[in-house]
Amino acid sequence: MWNCIVSPDTRAHRRRSLGVALALAVAAAPSLGAQQSHAHAPAPPSAHSHRAAPHPVVIPTPRSVLGFDPGDDRKLADWPTLVRYYQALDRTSNRVIYRELGKTTLGAPFVALLISSPANLKHLAQSRRLAALLADPRRARSSAELDRAIRDACIPVLITGGIHSNEVGGNLTPAVLAYRLATDTSATTRAILDNVLLLLVPSLNPDGVTITKRWYDRTLGTPAEGSAPPEPYHRYAGHDNNRDWYAFTQVETQLTVDSLYGVWHPPIAMDLHQQLSDGSRLFVPPYLDPIEPNVDPLLIDGDNALGAAIAWELAGEGKTGIAINANYDAWTPARAYEHYHGAVRILAEAASANLASPVDVPFDELATRERGYDPRERSWNFSAPWPGGRWTLRDVVNYQSSAAYALLENAARYRDHWLANFVTVGWRGIHGWRGWPYAYVIPRQHQDTVALATLLEILHRGQVEIRTTLESFSLGAQHFASGTYVVVLRQPYAAFAKTLLEPQHYPDRLLYPGGPPQPPYDVTAHTLPLLLGVSTTLAAESLRVPLSGPVDPPHALTVAPGFTGADAPRVGVYRSYAAPLDEGWTRWVFDTWKVPYVSLVDSVIRAGKLGEHFDAIVLPDEAPIEILNGLPGIYPAPYAGGLGPEGVAALRAFVQGGGTLVALNDASRFAVEQLLLPVRNVLEGVADDEFYAPGSLFRIELDPSHPIAHGSDETSAWFENGPAFDVIDSSAVRVVARYPSDPARLLRSGWVLHPERVAGRGALLDVRLGSGHVILFGFRPQYRGQSLATYPLLFNSLHVH
Ligand SMILES: [Zn+2]
Repeated sequence: MWNCIVSPDTRAHRRRSLGVALALAVAAAPSLGAQQSHAHAPAPPSAHSHRAAPHPVVIPTPRSVLGFDPGDDRKLADWPTLVRYYQALDRTSNRVIYRELGKTTLGAPFVALLISSPANLKHLAQSRRLAALLADPRRARSSAELDRAIRDACIPVLITGGIHSNEVGGNLTPAVLAYRLATDTSATTRAILDNVLLLLVPSLNPDGVTITKRWYDRTLGTPAEGSAPPEPYHRYAGHDNNRDWYAFTQVETQLTVDSLYGVWHPPIAMDLHQQLSDGSRLFVPPYLDPIEPNVDPLLIDGDNALGAAIAWELAGEGKTGIAINANYDAWTPARAYEHYHGAVRILAEAASANLASPVDVPFDELATRERGYDPRERSWNFSAPWPGGRWTLRDVVNYQSSAAYALLENAARYRDHWLANFVTVGWRGIHGWRGWPYAYVIPRQHQDTVALATLLEILHRGQVEIRTTLESFSLGAQHFASGTYVVVLRQPYAAFAKTLLEPQHYPDRLLYPGGPPQPPYDVTAHTLPLLLGVSTTLAAESLRVPLSGPVDPPHALTVAPGFTGADAPRVGVYRSYAAPLDEGWTRWVFDTWKVPYVSLVDSVIRAGKLGEHFDAIVLPDEAPIEILNGLPGIYPAPYAGGLGPEGVAALRAFVQGGGTLVALNDASRFAVEQLLLPVRNVLEGVADDEFYAPGSLFRIELDPSHPIAHGSDETSAWFENGPAFDVIDSSAVRVVARYPSDPARLLRSGWVLHPERVAGRGALLDVRLGSGHVILFGFRPQYRGQSLATYPLLFNSLHVH
């Protein structure tokens, strides 16, 4: 007997046998081990010879491998130990399969567990076939075949832990959940195993599990206990690693999309996170507005229903402090791949302890900054406030594992509803929504080959079909050659293509009428053609030209010109121990584009004589006060303290002696202030209600005669709370790029309030200081490894001398 893949007769039998299992489970003494319980449902012959072993094997507890119970105070596990545990589960449980999907950025195993009934795990090929059919209902020969698939398929559910490695509950909860599912004999667990194929990724960032554990152990009992490691917990992306779900720049993202989403098409996904210590104990959806307009309403309804169901289950267990409809919006595909692939996304944010150290949070110190609720007051979306007190890692693990279990229970109970809705969302994409254009047309000619390949690779990885025209054709006044790329917005994941190809119009949201802007949770724009500098044309109506079948994207080599040979600039990149995100992205872009560089920590810069070793030094985006003062004194040497006055003096001497200092975004304010440059930031001290642009794409006009612009006269730049410049001494400053003088031409995608504040102002300056240059970027030229359109400006600036 197997479970999800059944004929109608056996399904009826299975339902009856569930009742039997329930009765037996109730009758069983609590001390009965899981291995005995398998006697209720004899395991089928397994491909793994160990599963056919005649003697029952003991399924190891997490403690037996980790050396402690997940949630114990002041105990964390490193990744190799957790891997050993999951491998032990695979060896001993016929409900668990361990799979290594590939290697992480630092070469560790990247792992998924498949957890389901032994019978389901024996028929994975069939489950996979049905999942593919449901994900693309065009493959079904008849509606009856689809109905059968909905009736017979398991529901794949993806649960991911640990993307943010310092949210340490997410590194341990998967072990607790896997053990429970491997051993529990309750009727509920049996129903989960029978109906759900759980894809459990115990960490989306295994490298960070070990980085965090090592730092925690090293600082235990010192003033720095519980502090953040002085390095990014993902080598390149740090905390931004969960903003990578459309750009797919990092291998961990790629492995998850290629090996899990793209294969199993889970209609439900849950991501385990932690928030600050002093808000709700747990957040689950509904999300706050704004909801990105291309997300199918049925998915928002699903988020609302499932999130509320989880909150309700936990409340029934006596857990308090659960907030819904709070803090987190659903605007961007950067965090929500699922919302563009037919799936609901359950973000679960538990309150944090201090890594694995307990915290005490008195009730009257609960936060007042929370959005959508007050942690000290009852409201419809926060029905039972937490009374305050001690909060430990055990609490985090309990809330997270209960929430995950409640989600699985719901998925099992409403398996066919979830699958049917998943198919409905797919059909809507295939038919296209009213008002959607027919297609995007992407010419091959007059495009940057790397940018074009990047755009097509992203769409392809996101399971978007790309076709080419088999003949030349015209659209309005434009003529297109045969072989032009076309993305037809009539396909299952059309919403993914549409939201990435069109400009965003983020709504003007104010905290109250006439008040300051309500910040978005993250940023407001994600328009790939603007980020990449690729031209596309919208086709409102059907193209009258034959199209190919789906094609693969082209490949292109990423190599920045001018960084080999004797003339190549010697590049240094400032590496703050405060681990600002932009520093990691800078390294990622340089590594990817083969720009050689050396990372410079505080002590190296403070030591001076930088001109002997470097021609150009990059200061990545970081708050000026943080560059100057660095980490606080609780950190041990050499991590505390920033550049300090010595570092400033060394940078000044470097520039005056002929070096080039390249300052990005907020770091430009540091350079202006500390090196007393003859420019003024017109946004210094300007309140949010007088100017606001928290992550938008702006038009910039370039001086094509300047070597940084290198012949270009216009592009789009990523503006995110950066400075905008007035020139005080024009004899020392060249404006390389400025914002359009017409404020109406500024915004290309996202949100801006009062664009007139920056209209006509400098966006990128070349400032002479002594024999050298300071290049001031008022925007982020290599934003999250996505803004290829402005990479050349960064690369060219390293050649200025
Ligand atoms: Zn997080």
